[in-house]
This record gives sequence, C-alpha cells and structure tokens, in this order.
Amino acid sequence: MISAKSAMNPIGDTEKVETLAGVECRQGSRRVNYLRLSITDRCNLRCVYCMPDEGIDFVPHSEILSYEEMLHLVRISVRNGIRKVRLTGGEPLVRKGFIPFLEKLTALQDLDEITITTNGVLLKEYAADIRNCGICRINVSLDSLRPERFFRITRRDLFHKVWEGIEEAQRLGFDPLKINVVAMKGVNDDEVLDFGRLTLDRPFHVRFIEWMPIGKHNNWTSEKFITAEALRNRIAALGELDPVEHEPMDGPAERYRIKGARGEVGFISAVSSHFCDSCNRLRLTAEGRLRGCLFSDKEIDVKTPLREGKGDEVLAGLVKRAIDEKPRGPGRLSSRPRKCIRQMSTIGG
Ligand code: SF4
Repeated sequence: MISAKSAMNPIGDTEKVETLAGVECRQGSRRVNYLRLSITDRCNLRCVYCMPDEGIDFVPHSEILSYEEMLHLVRISVRNGIRKVRLTGGEPLVRKGFIPFLEKLTALQDLDEITITTNGVLLKEYAADIRNCGICRINVSLDSLRPERFFRITRRDLFHKVWEGIEEAQRLGFDPLKINVVAMKGVNDDEVLDFGRLTLDRPFHVRFIEWMPIGKHNNWTSEKFITAEALRNRIAALGELDPVEHEPMDGPAERYRIKGARGEVGFISAVSSHFCDSCNRLRLTAEGRLRGCLFSDKEIDVKTPLREGKGDEVLAGLVKRAIDEKPRGPGRLSSRPRKCIRQMSTIGG
C-alpha cells in the first residue's frame, strides 16, 4: 500500500495514515487490518467446548445484524484500514442468504482478502458457489479424524459430511485449504500425528490451535491443555520441520513444512505465549458489537447507532475507538487464564 501522508504520533497511540485507498489505523507498531465477522450465533454442531446440547440462549433474530447492516459496517471498517474479512459464526453456512451476501461482500472495493471459517458440514453443498464468488481460501474446523470421536466432541454424527466437504473443496482448488484443530489432552491429542500426516500427500494446511478458555460453556482445564510447543515437538517425529515464511496477511501461526510434504503444519500459541503486540484483529459479533480482543469482554455497540440512523462519521468514529482501545496485552495469562464470559459462538472464535 502506498502511503501518501503520515502523521507524527507518540508510540502507543493510534496513528492514522492516509493512503490512496483511504485511512489505515495503526496502533504503535500494530496495523489493525483484519475484521472477523460473526454472521450468526447458530450452528449445526454442538461442540462440547462451545455450547450445550439444549437450552441455548440464541440471540433473537431481530437482534442479529442484517446482511445489509453488515455490509454497511464492513464498508465503514474498510475506511478505517480493514483489508481482510473473515466470515465466521456460529456456523456461517447455516444462515439463509449466505451466498447472495458473499456476492455483495466480494464486490466491495479495497478489500484484499475474504475468507471463511466453517465446520464443514454444509461445505460440499456450498463449495462451488463460494468458489464462484471468487473466494479461494477456506478454513475448516475439525478436531478428530475418527467418526465416533467426532460425534463425541460435536454431539452430531456428521463426520462423513465434513470429510466430503473437505474433499470437494480440495477438488475445486481452494488454496490454502486450512484444517483447524483444537488439541486437547486426553480428548484428541493421540491424533496429532494423523493430522500431521494429512499434509504429507495433500496440499492441506493443518493448524494446531491451543485450546482457549473462551465462553461460558467451555470447561477449560489446565490438565487438558497442551502447548503449541509440545504439539510441534510431537509433529517433528514425522520429519524435519522447515519454517515457512510469513505472508503479509498471515495470522499468528508459526508455519512449517514437514520435509517433502505437499501441505503445511502451523501452530497457534493463543494461550502460552503472547502475540498481542502483532495482533491485527478486530471482531464484530453477530449482534453488532465490536471487540478488540477475544480475552476481553470490552465491546462497543455499533448496532444501536446504526439503527438510530447515525451517519457514517459517527460509525467510523466507533470503529476507530475500537481500534484505539484494543488491548495491547497481555490479553492471556498462561498460568491463570481468564475466561471470557460470552459464548464463543457469538464472537466468532
Ligand atoms: S465450536 Fe464451532 S462448530 Fe462447534 S458448536 Fe461452536 S460454533 Fe459450532
């Protein structure tokens, strides 16, 4: 991006840099350019660390942002320097009208990247439409390769549908096709090597994510927690790990390629080590609240002013405030993680 003019600012404050595409917001050395947009809190799975099987307090439909409202807020966010949007949920593919919304989102100016995180259950059905919208990167969350264990973790017997979705996405050429694995000791950690082996002859990017103490139904315990470092040491049993260089829009994963593998493995140390200083994310919840950090319950309501008809300047000011107030960390404490009280499916993980 070409910087036309930059303002002097004390380190730590948000710096606004005018560019040819608008305004980029930097907070010290951080450039906040990535918006995770939760489009629904509904889901077709019931993962044990996310939601109970029954009695869930779903947000009433009228309180969920409409697609038009989301598009408006994304446009405003782009003016504040957002260049990448990830659609999450709940499960984004369960929301009616997802593909027409995606078509409109991909038509917006100045977004460099749009990606989707899905649990894969409906992926086979939607993969071609998603690809036709011009999306080529997709993340599938999958914690087990064993159907009966998948059932135990998600409370739904749908492993085969997810796997068919992954194969369809591979056939359609999604690249990268990332598989996100939350590793939990005594639950699925005996499959770490199986997941790593997937990358040997398939171009998948398997990302191991430390289990985070997020949400009121999470049941996080330190006994079940495994560090990214321990996972990387285990994967090293499959061969030498060659580091892969970071790309500009990359997330916080440490990336490697097992010698000779077609795909990659990555490790996200969301709990054991801080990456707050380089965190470029902002989250917009399904009910229209901006969050600067997964581990902080501080939120800014943008839906109310939007529905009250407040102008773009007001909304842009709120986005800027969310960036200004984004915690500089540490937002996580390895020895005593603080649980965030919201249900994870309303934040978008
Ligand atoms: S973790 Fe994801 S896939 Fe599982 S129930 Fe929650 S939102 Fe659905």
